[in-house]
Amino acid sequence: MTTKTPTDTTVLNSYNPSTGELVGSVPITPVAEIDSIIAKANAALPAWQAMTPQQRADILKPAGKIIADRAEELGKLLSLEQGKPTAEGIGEVNGCAARMDWENDEVAKAVQPEILKSDGIESTIHYDGYGVCAAITPWNFPLLMPHWTIIPALIAGNTVITKPSEQTPLISDEYVKILNQFLPEGVLQIVHGEDDQGKALVAGDIHLIAFTGSKNAGQHIMAAAANGLKRLILELGSKDPMIVLEGADLDKATAFGVNNALRNCGQVCVSTERIYVQDSIKDEFMAKLTEEAGTFTVGDCNDENAKVGPMVMREQKDHVVAQISDAISKGASVAMGNEPMEGNFIAPTVLDNCTHDMDIMTIETFGPVLCIQSVSDADQAVALANDTEYGLGAVVFGDEAVARKAASQLTAGMIGVNKGIGGASGTPWVGARHSGFSYHSGPMGHRQFCQVRVVSVNAE
Ligand code: NAD
Repeated sequence: MTTKTPTDTTVLNSYNPSTGELVGSVPITPVAEIDSIIAKANAALPAWQAMTPQQRADILKPAGKIIADRAEELGKLLSLEQGKPTAEGIGEVNGCAARMDWENDEVAKAVQPEILKSDGIESTIHYDGYGVCAAITPWNFPLLMPHWTIIPALIAGNTVITKPSEQTPLISDEYVKILNQFLPEGVLQIVHGEDDQGKALVAGDIHLIAFTGSKNAGQHIMAAAANGLKRLILELGSKDPMIVLEGADLDKATAFGVNNALRNCGQVCVSTERIYVQDSIKDEFMAKLTEEAGTFTVGDCNDENAKVGPMVMREQKDHVVAQISDAISKGASVAMGNEPMEGNFIAPTVLDNCTHDMDIMTIETFGPVLCIQSVSDADQAVALANDTEYGLGAVVFGDEAVARKAASQLTAGMIGVNKGIGGASGTPWVGARHSGFSYHSGPMGHRQFCQVRVVSVNAE
């Protein structure tokens, strides 16, 4: 099995994680060229910022139709280089295209000036672009992650240099080409490569870094950004808990937990990574959970019956296998799965009797594993759920009043009660503690891409 690393210093190859076959290549951006790319982005700023947010939103909208028209072709490419089932790849593309219809206007509206009046003073709050934004993104949603970042950054009045993951460069490259059919020269550029290219961007003459990725890289970026006090939006990793208490609808709870742990082969920042279930309902819960998990068959992206693809790369599989072995050596029992598989594939696995002595309950796994720990009551469940440095999402299933109370005691940015974490339209995507710094999405999130400027005049 080929791992997805560049084979020479000029070309970044993208391989199918199921087969190791080459999917395509892009030229690596020499680090020495990054300063001139940044200079071009700075030069494009005045004309871009002279437009209104709505003008910028409207310029981008026709790209949505092209993305929708090409959804099947782009979705297949996305899945070939990332590994998720093709239907999910096409779904990711269609989702981004559909967002162009409503989200562009939502961003434009969110960053309109606001007027406040009191005591004979009229103040206008302006939301200006910061300047040049470096959008650095991961491989797990290789179109959605750049889209989520690039669109609000642009409409808010920034020019953007995007650096997609080295694991999935091809789909981002196509995306940028589509947007650039409509954008003025220099407003959106792409840089390909590994962390060296990311580091050079962060160190350059830029003003905002919108990063989605691992906690370690986020911490490095934060330290590097301190020099120039560059603005930061960091969306980082997590170890999301699920609490299941008496009174829960166990069919719904297990359907949610299994899907949320196994979709995209567990490679989702809000994957269910830990499950705390009350003793009194545990046997019934485990029976339903393993039955449901058994329906998640593994296969490559073109296998229409497969719900779970491969891990994106060998290193990721090794990390998950090592965590499973560590857990078993410390007393976890295998309730399902853990059979060895070839290549980058990994069998969906259910581990029972987990404890916080195990790496798999404390360190992000990012793999198709359901880890179960028994609890006596809601208080113990909440204490264990909060026993983490992370805090992106969390869910509680149970009697509504008890579940709501538990939710009020959890430290996480997004919490679902008897449902997943998805919020109403307009809510931000936000992490607590080491899962994030600043945030995005919804009107509050769109304004994170802006410098606030208050201009006050006498209103007599
Ligand atoms: P990663 O941190 O290894 O890489 C992400 C991007 O950062 C890549 O483009 C990489 O080249 C670049 N990079 C790495 N080190 C850098 C540095 N020091 N300076 C500048 N750029 C650098 O993450 P990954 O493995 O691609 O993605 C998986 C991680 O992303 C997981 O931890 C997951 O939880 C997280 N994630 C979080 C969210 C969220 O919304 N919070 C969403 C998706 C993924």
